[in-house]
Amino acid sequence: MSQSFNIKKIIDLVCKKYFSEIVRHIDSPYFHLEGYFVDRLPSEDFQDTIMVHVYTPPWISEKEYDEYFRIYALDVLQQQNKRNLTILIGGIAHELGHFVLYRKSRLECSIPHDERLVDDIVIEKGLGEYLLEAKEYIRERRPDYTFNGYTPEEIREKLNVVQF
Ligand SMILES: [Zn+2]
Repeated sequence: MSQSFNIKKIIDLVCKKYFSEIVRHIDSPYFHLEGYFVDRLPSEDFQDTIMVHVYTPPWISEKEYDEYFRIYALDVLQQQNKRNLTILIGGIAHELGHFVLYRKSRLECSIPHDERLVDDIVIEKGLGEYLLEAKEYIRERRPDYTFNGYTPEEIREKLNVVQF
């Protein structure tokens, strides 16, 4: 039997190591950070990719308020191997980058984010190699995929990785 990853555990580890701005919220009873492996991503618009997030901004509830950030990843990534872990971390870091932007512009969370800005956050945090692996995997699955964020080549250039 093949082993599977615990996506919530990986999200928490990535937060603890790289996203101090999110860790502050994790222990709040009003903030919910969740992760799921799914057969099909929840939005029809994103069927070409491997992971998406759904964000419910703070809204008044029975408690004081509630805020949800959910990450959905294709379940082909739940099989435990080193490459899948790298791809998961890269993808999760990208989705968490969106949350960083939501926090920066609380009133504008209906406006689609600039995907390159999100990728920049991931690279600045030192997770560029992981992001690159995630993007390479997206391209392997869908060779005609149009990247709204950086292409694998652009990331490689930013990381200054010399190719032979
Ligand atoms: Zn994105």
